[in-house]
Amino acid sequence: MIITIDGPAGAGKSSAAKALAQQLGFRFLDTGAMYRSVALAALRSGLSWDDTTGLAELAKTLQIDLDGDRTLLNGEDVSQAIRTAEVTDAVRYVADNPQIRQTLVELQQNTALESDFVTEGRDQGTIAFPRAECKIFLTASPAERAKRRQIEHHRRGEDLSFETVLERQNARDQRDKQRTIGRLVPAADAFEVSTDGLSPQEVVERLKVIVSQCRS
Ligand code: C5P
Repeated sequence: MIITIDGPAGAGKSSAAKALAQQLGFRFLDTGAMYRSVALAALRSGLSWDDTTGLAELAKTLQIDLDGDRTLLNGEDVSQAIRTAEVTDAVRYVADNPQIRQTLVELQQNTALESDFVTEGRDQGTIAFPRAECKIFLTASPAERAKRRQIEHHRRGEDLSFETVLERQNARDQRDKQRTIGRLVPAADAFEVSTDGLSPQEVVERLKVIVSQCRS
């Protein structure tokens, strides 16, 4: 069974998807970590962001392994390195590149052949797994999402103002919604859930109810 969870940054997808996967005994796929890994490799390579073909070639050579909470790039644990503000700013060049999207969607599809999966991203229910048994679209208000992101940055020692986080988030939302391939849009058959005012446990409980509806 494949459960897709899509939605904008800060809607609580990662923690909900992880907890849901754990409770169902499914594996969990954080596809944002794949885009972030390519962005990190691109930053290290010194390639120009204009070199879309070079970036796409680079993406094809990378070995990206998602092992529980850890992300391995060519065998190196980059779980922390892919979460910096620098990578977050750069990831758009990678996510806007149709050839890189194709490479990563194939990687996602091949990974999910192995077992039952909860996969989380922007285009999982629309592009990567259009025939998934259960599709969820998680949202939350921009202010609540920015507040959550600000706390995450703070935990990593990056103190950014609420306004800065909100401004960057709005810019990313616009890009995610407008890209020609893999844009952020709910699948027609997705269940939409707003996480505003819900605790992480309450979100997971809602998702479990949806999954049981999908199964019946
Ligand atoms: O989810 P996360 O914020 O880690 O994703 C990083 C970036 O990767 C997002 O800003 C989004 O642009 C991109 N992304 C994507 N498609 C996915 C997952 C992430 O375009 N399936």
